[in-house]
This record gives sequence, C-alpha cells and structure tokens, in this order.
Amino acid sequence: MTSPGRFPRVAAKPSRRIIVGIWFAIPLWKRVVGALLLGVVAGLVWGPGAESIKIVGDVFIAFIKMLVVPLIFLSVVSGVASIGDLRKLGSVGWRALLLFLLTSQVAVWLGLALGTVFTPGLGVDTSAIVRGDPPAPSEATWRDMLLGVIPQSPVQVMADANVLPLIVFALLVGVGIVMAKEEGGPVARLFDSGAVVMQKVTILVMELTPFGVFALMAWVAGTLGRDALVALAQVVALNYLGCFLIIGLVYASLIRFVAKLPVVDFFRGMADAIAVAYSTASSSATLPVTLRCTQRNLGVSAPTSSFVVSLGATINMDGTAMYLGLATLFGAQLFGVPLDLGDYILVSVLATLGSIGAAGIPGSGLIMMALVFGAVGVPLETIAFVAGIDRIMDMMRTATNVTGDGTVTTTVAALVGDIDRGEMISADDV
Ligand code: ASP
Repeated sequence: MTSPGRFPRVAAKPSRRIIVGIWFAIPLWKRVVGALLLGVVAGLVWGPGAESIKIVGDVFIAFIKMLVVPLIFLSVVSGVASIGDLRKLGSVGWRALLLFLLTSQVAVWLGLALGTVFTPGLGVDTSAIVRGDPPAPSEATWRDMLLGVIPQSPVQVMADANVLPLIVFALLVGVGIVMAKEEGGPVARLFDSGAVVMQKVTILVMELTPFGVFALMAWVAGTLGRDALVALAQVVALNYLGCFLIIGLVYASLIRFVAKLPVVDFFRGMADAIAVAYSTASSSATLPVTLRCTQRNLGVSAPTSSFVVSLGATINMDGTAMYLGLATLFGAQLFGVPLDLGDYILVSVLATLGSIGAAGIPGSGLIMMALVFGAVGVPLETIAFVAGIDRIMDMMRTATNVTGDGTVTTTVAALVGDIDRGEMISADDV
C-alpha cells in the first residue's frame, strides 16, 4: 500500500473506477467460474495460438505455489498448538483417515464397475492416436515411502515443498508447543500471527485467480489433441462420469447425511477451489485456495481445516483412485488381458495405495498407473495411448480430489463440532 503522502495521487478515470467497482462487486467465485467458461470459449476460437497466454496461468500457479510451504507450516503449527488438547487432534485425525480410506475404496470400485460395464477399451481405433511419452515409472519402494514421511532435514523438506514430511514436522512442533505450556507461549503467538499474515497474502494472490484460470483453460481448450480425444472419447467420458458420480453421490451424501449441512452451499463455498483445481490439475497448488474455502466460506475452524486439508491434498485422491481402476480395465480390454476377481481386489488395494502415493501435481496419476498395471499384467504401453490426452482427464480427477478434501474436512469438522454453521450459510457474499 502506498501512503498518501509519498506519491502524488493520480485520480482514476471515472469509467475505470466504475469497471473496477463492478469487478470487485462480483463475488470471487462467480468471477472464477465465469473466467473458466470464457477461457474454454477463447481457446476453442483461438486454437493452438492460445498457448501464448499460458504464461499468465503459469505466473498464477507460481504465486499460489509460493504460499504452500509457509501456509501449511504456520497454520498447522498454530492449529495444533491452539487445539491444545492432543486427544482432540487424535479424534480429528482418525476420522479424517477413515473417511479418506473409505471414499477412495468406493472410488476405485466405481472405476472398476464403469470399466466392466462400458468396456471402453474394446473397438478403439488406435491408429488415430499419437502416442505420448509414458512418464518414467516411479521406482520408490514402500521403504522409501516410509522414510520419505520423516522430515530428516526440515529445511530441505521446505525447500522441496515436500508436503507430507512438512506436516509431520509441523505437527511435532505444535505438540512441542502444547507440552512447553507457558514457556511455549511466545513461540505459539509468533506462529498464530504468522498464520494470519499468510492468510492475508492468500487473499491477495487469490485476486489473480480469474486471470490464471482463464489463461489455463484457453491453453487447454486451444491445444487439445482432438483426434486422440475422439478415439478415446469413451474413456474420457467415463472418467468424467466417474468423477461426477463421486462428487454428486458420495460427497453430496456425506455432506447431507453425515455432516448434515446444505449441499448447495457446500459446493458454492468450494467453487473457487474446484475451479482452480480443474484449471491447474494440481491439488498441491490448489491447497491454499482449498484452505481458504473451508475456513472462510464453509466455517471450518482454522486448526481442523489446516490439518485435514493439508493431509488430504497429499494422500486423498479419489478421482485418481477411480481413474486407476478404470484405466486398468481399459488397458486390459485394449490388449485382451483377462482379469479375474482376485485381480480386481489387487487393483483396488494398489489403486488406493497409488492414489495415496501420487503427488498433487499434474500427471502424477499417470505415473501411478505403472504400479497397478505391472501387478495385474496390463501392458505399460496403455499409458502411451492415454498420455496425450491425460490433461483433460487429470483436470477432472484433480477437481474431484480437491472436492474430496473439502468434503472430508467439512464432515469431520461437523462431527467433532468444529464448524460455524452460520458462516457457511452466508457463503453468498464470498
Ligand atoms: N493431478 C492430480 C492431483 O494433483 C493427481 C493425478 O494426476 O491424478 O490431484
């Protein structure tokens, strides 16, 4: 902010003031959704040239990524310290983990069911598909994964923006503050104040959302591989159908019947996060927006939301789990690999693990396919067929993953009485 005394004030033209006034009078979520739709139209009209404005989207993503580490660290420490009672933390934690696990199991079996009923891999014209480069399969073993959760060097973890060990470190610092009682007071206040400051920075960055979302949508719509899209239309449609079913049935039911909250208000409150997730295809990059939506629009307390949302952005990916199930059947049908019930069960376990292990970045679901395919004998070549159009499916998976984080956070908060229902109803003026 410039102080009035320092710079000569240039009066804004009345017309400009009116435009700015109208812009800010529209709630942010409406501006974001509008930008998303306009971006698609612009991309379709403009074609591949729309790539030139992708930089606007990249700048936006870079800004929200900037928030991830300080926001998670400060808000999880301050959240845990202010919960004070570690039993409360435990009761939030186990409920969240149980819901994460349950929803991802439902999601994988839904993917397997859609793949079995609609057989998207039969009769595909593979000659129309320019094969993409399959990403190098992840070589991480479960030992690496386990060690990877431990923040050996907290500074390194922050520098790498490695969210899971960062949460572990933040949790431990929060617990340390609680154990230190009065002596921990100054540190607790420092983190509280830091968390509030970062929330204000988030508000500033979120004003860029409509521009970033517009540019990213124009780029995707303008540069999509249309031939591959036609050849693989069925698998793309099933990916969307599966995600819509998870959102419309599983999440809506949790909100309506378990959290006992109005479903429409929930989705309206989450609109910014869903739009950012859809356009960036990254749950991690969306994390600051998800945090803000759950706290500001849905009325979830800061301690619970920072803990559950951060955890969810890393380990809860129902869209990805569903897609892994669906893609396995797609590959099996494409290459004529018979799968029995034992294989289905193996896929359901591995796809859940894969969705937990997948990083919240674009295309990570694709990497996890290798894990599942290898176990049931589906050729890894399948990945090459879908790689070229993965983005459009990834966007919907990510929107589902992020909606799932919001659903579980809100449901757990409602179960432990950590939600301000009045706040949620007023989501209108977000
Ligand atoms: N891009 C997704 C996410 O960030 C993961 C995936 O590729 O399915 O949630």
